[in-house]
Amino acid sequence: MQSERTTEQWRALDAAHHLHPFTDTESLNQQGARVITKADGVFLWDSDGNKILDGMAGLWCVNIGYGRKDLSEVARRQMDELAYYNTFFKTTHPAVVELSHLLSQVAPEGFSHIFYTNSGSESVDTMIRMVRRYWDVKGKPGKKTLIGRWNGYHGSTIGGASLGGMSYMHEQGDLPIPGIVHVEQPWWYRYGQGMSPEEFGVVAARWVEEKILEVGPDKVAAFVGEPIQGAGGVIIPPSTYWPEVERICRRYDVLLVADEVICGFGRTGEWFGHQLFGFHPDLFTAAKGLSSGYLPIGAVFVGDKVAQGLAEGGDFNHGFTYSGHPVAAAVAHANVKALRDEGIIDRVKHDTGPYMQQRWREAFGGFAHVDDVRGVGLIQAFTLVKDKATHELFPNWGEVGTICRDIFFRHNLIMRACGDHMVAAPPLVISKAEIDQLIDTAVQCVTECEAVLH
Ligand code: PLP
Repeated sequence: MQSERTTEQWRALDAAHHLHPFTDTESLNQQGARVITKADGVFLWDSDGNKILDGMAGLWCVNIGYGRKDLSEVARRQMDELAYYNTFFKTTHPAVVELSHLLSQVAPEGFSHIFYTNSGSESVDTMIRMVRRYWDVKGKPGKKTLIGRWNGYHGSTIGGASLGGMSYMHEQGDLPIPGIVHVEQPWWYRYGQGMSPEEFGVVAARWVEEKILEVGPDKVAAFVGEPIQGAGGVIIPPSTYWPEVERICRRYDVLLVADEVICGFGRTGEWFGHQLFGFHPDLFTAAKGLSSGYLPIGAVFVGDKVAQGLAEGGDFNHGFTYSGHPVAAAVAHANVKALRDEGIIDRVKHDTGPYMQQRWREAFGGFAHVDDVRGVGLIQAFTLVKDKATHELFPNWGEVGTICRDIFFRHNLIMRACGDHMVAAPPLVISKAEIDQLIDTAVQCVTECEAVLH
């Protein structure tokens, strides 16, 4: 958007009129918002002309990178042709049909139906309503409870925030709502000491079984998890976890749901994160990388068993004015096609992903306060810890992470602090030279951070 204002004028107007998400307004307004004015590839520019390496792809979403003129051209053409029409009342349009067809091709077998939303949170809420409706139709209306995980993140709506396991969100607004319970996360570093990761994976999966038995299998509708917990700090479960969770869900006739809002569309080097871990969800939610953030759109991929069940039930009384919005659908189609046809996801799997992971481990393994250096594809993290030998974390979880994150910002590198987990998830088009730049800058920043800690 063209505007002639100065940075100070933007900041003043922003402070006067804009309430930001997940933000302490007072502290923001003292500091002044950073004003981002343009972007290209993996770089952002602020209103003072600083060039910033976006190591987080926005909010883990700009998979295809910034500045793709082909996507803006698709949006313009679609706006000219059919800017809006809905998909209610037995109506459809070419953009949503083409997108659905393409998504059914890139999804694993058995996912031939897609329901559209405008965001990850709406996808999660839609999924909650779908699984409850499914069990109603199947004559098991008692199966209503969903099991999520502590430190999982499933969005900000009342359903999504309830299913997520962020206590700082639950504290505001009396969450979780009834019918949602949680189990502990499969975080080996914190909870699995004394066990091999593989042993711990089975133990953590059994927490799901214990919860199903506690609630009663005839009351449990679904277990929901991110294949890799993203906002929780890139918690990568041991290889044994998901297959055991799947076995347990099948045993008790509980639907298995993957929240692919971050992991989906290539972040791990596979199209979807559950493919990396080799499990088979009944439904999965998506957003972010579906359009690479160019326009808001989310989706629920509904497995054939659930799609069939919903169809048997007649009307499913749920939907949004913008479900399958033509412009968002056309842009998502162009984005997904490019991710496939330009080999972007293949490159993450075979080339840039392995390169990033090797360099990441080499670069951060030697720091005194950096441990659990981890990642896959182009999602990676390490944890700032007080004592590597004893795995002791810092007191005041998140304090050191914030100090470190601010140092990164000052060096024009965006990485995220999830508590004391430092996370990077750059656009999937990042080159090896840009990976080198990201890591070299991050090493400099962590060196500065450790100096502050001593
Ligand atoms: N699910 C997961 C796994 C997410 O990471 C997020 C957002 O980060 C959401 C759901 C919510 O998505 P949105 O912010 O688009 O509502």
